[in-house]
Amino acid sequence: APSLALLSRPAQEAGAPLAPLASDGQSVPLVQGGSVRWVNLDYAASAPALRAVADHVAQVLPLYASVHRGASYASEACTAAYEAARRQVAAFVGARPDDVAVFTRNTTDALNLLATAVPGEVVHLDIEHHANLLPWQARGNRLVPAGSTVAATLAAVEAELARRPAALLTVTGASNVTGECPPLDRLAEIAHRHGARLAVDGAQLVPHRRVDLCAIGADYLALSGHKMYAPFGAGALIGRRDWLDAAPAYLAGGGAVREVTCDSVRWAPAPARHEAGTPAVLGALALAAACRELAALPDGAVAAHEQALLGRLDEGLVAVGARVLRIWPDAPDLDRVPAVSFTVPGFAAARVAAYLSAEHGIGVRDGKFCAHPLLARLGAADGAVRVSLGLGSQADDIDQLIAALGKLRTDGP
Ligand code: PLP
Repeated sequence: APSLALLSRPAQEAGAPLAPLASDGQSVPLVQGGSVRWVNLDYAASAPALRAVADHVAQVLPLYASVHRGASYASEACTAAYEAARRQVAAFVGARPDDVAVFTRNTTDALNLLATAVPGEVVHLDIEHHANLLPWQARGNRLVPAGSTVAATLAAVEAELARRPAALLTVTGASNVTGECPPLDRLAEIAHRHGARLAVDGAQLVPHRRVDLCAIGADYLALSGHKMYAPFGAGALIGRRDWLDAAPAYLAGGGAVREVTCDSVRWAPAPARHEAGTPAVLGALALAAACRELAALPDGAVAAHEQALLGRLDEGLVAVGARVLRIWPDAPDLDRVPAVSFTVPGFAAARVAAYLSAEHGIGVRDGKFCAHPLLARLGAADGAVRVSLGLGSQADDIDQLIAALGKLRTDGP
């Protein structure tokens, strides 16, 4: 079978850094003149591509043809690589053999696709990113306010599912605002006990934890390549086939059909059913390459690297008097990915972010993080600052941030 011979690159050479990024060593100008090493503390928005992923894309480019469109060598090779990428993404998240993986543009696209396929009502919490809120709001959702503890939240979800059956419970795997990770296995168990399926918005979880759909018992997972060290352009929805086979084609057009006459169409089953038009082949191959690189890192290495830095960040923020946002403040043992949002008393979030960037070359995010209901709930309706870490983060990055925040507080607005 044709192959691009590019899908087998060994990811981690012994002694290599945890994972080099394509943007390592970048410098930026400062307002006061000169330039500094850019400190990226905004991995949760988009994580820079891994060097190996960028190299992979460059290698694929010369043999570049549309997939599922012909018998030329290039087209067949690209089709084989595209379908291998699909299998790799599915395997990376522990999909069941009969699950289907649909390539999408991103997590938002994946969740909107799922929303067209759910044959019934949907329950979700008020802690979600808009991507896991608005698709459901548009089709008559049942929103459950999270409780002040994890146990109270689980009880509220259970009560809602017991009150009236739902087809789907959907929840974030990790909050993009606080990094907190709801207990997915327990939510899956509750959903299933009440005849519902569980969908997980994996945008913030997948870059930081090995996600295993089987082990969690989750039925669907949505993810974005650009948050897991691939370039922009591709995401995926992975999960149970039956709903996706029965759903209307997500887009109408070529590639999604079995047969067409002038007045009728027989649609293909998923995944082709939901991938009409020429797909983002490079995006899919890059996403699979990122999965391969992450899978090749030693078990637990990502979490170990990031959790040590998260502890340092937590302590530093307390020391400079920042007000850290938490959904469940009394759950110190709850798993958290490295994203922390906070406000600095006396300073607007936008001012803090602009100061950090212009005067220290430190990139953070400010605003409401596409989670307006959650920010309002956490008493930060005007916005907050978010610091998020990833594979390229170093202790020095945290120390520079904390020193800069300390200086801001001392010098005043
Ligand atoms: N869900 C969560 C938790 C997110 O953090 C994000 C992006 O920030 C999304 C969904 C949407 O991801 P995308 O913009 O890639 O569709």
